[in-house]
Amino acid sequence: MRPTTYISFMGEALALARTAVALGEVPVGAVIVKDRRIIGRGHNRTRIDHDPTAHAEIVAIREAARHLDDDRLEGCDLWATLEPCTMCAGAIAHARIRRLYYGATDPKGGGVASGINFFEAPSCHHKPEIYAGLDEDESAALLKDFFVNRRL
Ligand SMILES: [Zn+2]
Repeated sequence: MRPTTYISFMGEALALARTAVALGEVPVGAVIVKDRRIIGRGHNRTRIDHDPTAHAEIVAIREAARHLDDDRLEGCDLWATLEPCTMCAGAIAHARIRRLYYGATDPKGGGVASGINFFEAPSCHHKPEIYAGLDEDESAALLKDFFVNRRL
């Protein structure tokens, strides 16, 4: 099910994932949208920043929070190319993200539909509306190519 005013921002998130590839980072991209405007962008940058928390979603949330000058991103939606991990799901809950849209599922590292299923946990105090599987083929292909090339 999709909201009636649905406009996809997954193309923007995928563009950020491709930027990550160019930098040798795992290709995951994310954007935060409020009132149909992008107010936060991120791609994985754990290696270039030497920061294990610098996942695409966290980078985008930080930028959006600075933009709003607030630690709660009320009315904001997060678009991510891959199912968020447990850390990012926690950040999404803390940020009070309204809707989460994501592409491919991540059975090995995900924390939303996979793993601990964080938003269903009793310790989760905010659950966004969740829309999964958007442009999942392109998102998954980027990741697959990245890991194949890295093994060469
Ligand atoms: Zn993450």
